[in-house]
Amino acid sequence: MASDVQVAETIAEVRQLVAAARGNGCRIGLVPTMGALHEGHASLIRAAKAEADFVVVSIFVNPIQFGPSEDYARYPRTLPEDLEICRLNGGQSAFVPSVTEMYPEPCWTFTDVEKLSYTLCGPRRPGHFRGVCTVVQKLFNIVQPDLAWFGAKDGQQARVIRRMVSDLNIPVEIRIGPTVREADGLAMSSRNQYLNKAERQSAAGIYQALSEVRRLALERPKTTPVEVEPLRRRLEELLKEIPGARLEYAEFVDERTLQPLDQLDGPALVAVALTLGQTRLIDNVTIP
Ligand code: AMP
Repeated sequence: MASDVQVAETIAEVRQLVAAARGNGCRIGLVPTMGALHEGHASLIRAAKAEADFVVVSIFVNPIQFGPSEDYARYPRTLPEDLEICRLNGGQSAFVPSVTEMYPEPCWTFTDVEKLSYTLCGPRRPGHFRGVCTVVQKLFNIVQPDLAWFGAKDGQQARVIRRMVSDLNIPVEIRIGPTVREADGLAMSSRNQYLNKAERQSAAGIYQALSEVRRLALERPKTTPVEVEPLRRRLEELLKEIPGARLEYAEFVDERTLQPLDQLDGPALVAVALTLGQTRLIDNVTIP
């Protein structure tokens, strides 16, 4: 049977738990989340458990990564269920700080990763990645993990965090877990629960469109460079056919730099953001 999860509400408490584990020779793993945990998070907790000896799952809806008109207030908060998911998947500790514990005073110090934050979601969510990087850096300072897990689902975020860690010499190894999907291909997300029945059905079209253009890209002959624009237009067309969808972007970018590509001459990330009803959804696939 999975053992109980030690819940820490304060920075001092989680530091104590981690210090005790480290004293026992444990490697510390961190899985940062905003809660409303699902199988995507669970897969990261299990991956962490396979490599680290003591796994901390942080659950914190971070206000500074939400824009003023975004869903901070209504973001789902399901702590009892989250703790059960931690327990069943091998998380030993849950760090569940309040906003005042994390930000006792207005935050005046921020971590900003340039360039990588300037494309895709960056310009559409001003301040978002700055908020993400700042809270992740705070979590790294608080927990001081040896390893930390992020999901490929948030492809830009994963690359931004990797770059922050490398630019700032933060002593943590970053691991990226694959995107976990529903049976119809929709990437799991805490925000999927906002979708009504019709929107939920439409949402499956996102991964279908991404898969279709990946298939088209991969079947092009490798002898001549593959032009991105026709593929990108096809992706846009497919996404615009999704009932009720308002497309934000559909882009082919360099997998490493996240800069837009003209030709598929190296690994690419195909990334999409759109809104269904009130719900903003993102997804991506890579083309090797
Ligand atoms: P969130 O709670 O949405 O901030 O996500 C916490 C972590 O879980 C992030 O690293 C996400 O990329 C990751 N994650 C969210 N959804 C999925 C998914 N469907 N598959 C894999 N990882 C995910």
